Amino acid sequence: MSDVVCHVCFRHCKLKEGDIGFCGARACRDGKSVCDNYGRITSIALDPVEKKPLARFMSGKMVLSVGSYGCNMNCPFCQNDSISRADAESVPWRYLAPDELAALAKARQPDGNIGVAFTFNEPMISWEYVRDAGAAVKAKGMANVVVTNGAVSQPVLEEVLPYIDAFNIDLKCFTAEGYKKLGGDFEMVLAFIAAAAKSAHVELTTLVVPGISDTEQQVRELASWVASLDRSIPLHITRFFPRGRYRDRQPTPVQTLYRLAEVAQEKLDTVIVGNV
Ligand code: SF4
Repeated sequence: MSDVVCHVCFRHCKLKEGDIGFCGARACRDGKSVCDNYGRITSIALDPVEKKPLARFMSGKMVLSVGSYGCNMNCPFCQNDSISRADAESVPWRYLAPDELAALAKARQPDGNIGVAFTFNEPMISWEYVRDAGAAVKAKGMANVVVTNGAVSQPVLEEVLPYIDAFNIDLKCFTAEGYKKLGGDFEMVLAFIAAAAKSAHVELTTLVVPGISDTEQQVRELASWVASLDRSIPLHITRFFPRGRYRDRQPTPVQTLYRLAEVAQEKLDTVIVGNV
């Protein structure tokens, strides 16, 4: 069987039959890049919509939040590395078919549930599951939310867009060099945000990490770019706490967050400071 190049994200992993990609979620089977973690759920919780975070979408409601394992980025401060850098062998999971997930979501409607949020690890590397489960949730008259790093290709985004009502997308910093440090791709993320904002409710999250994303100039440029799309897109500016390989660092000073929020407010209507 021949090798395959996976074009789901910027890494373009070259995979031999049976190989797993960098993300831990996709594999080469029968000469194709397939979603190896399809339906493998490691975490499930009924959470407030505000926790995703979404500040201007169905406020006061709940959303059934599910995640699997794997991620295509490699942020040194990952808050979820017990699943983002895991694989099928290193973390417990249970299989939930798209129809089963939709039925669970429907069963929680009396508790205020609006549908399903694909979150916790990076859901877009498993776009086939987001598409299929998203369609099943829609068929029950409910909504879908995706919480993502936005670092996947446009054809992948287009596959899921018809089913997604709201996104929270990380905009982790505003330089190509910064994204390189995090094992990501700046241009791919900008293109993802611009396209998603044309067809769904979009909110953005910038985790303010000292030395990566905490300068006024960077936040000013970031906010100007977001405003060039739509100044009503909410921006969440959130506080870093020592995690992952940045366990030895200090949390972001609270006054830095509020100063950067003021800078962003010069361009954007809604800026929310989080994790303080
Ligand atoms: S989605 Fe996974 S396998 Fe595909 S290119 Fe990205 S990291 Fe590699």
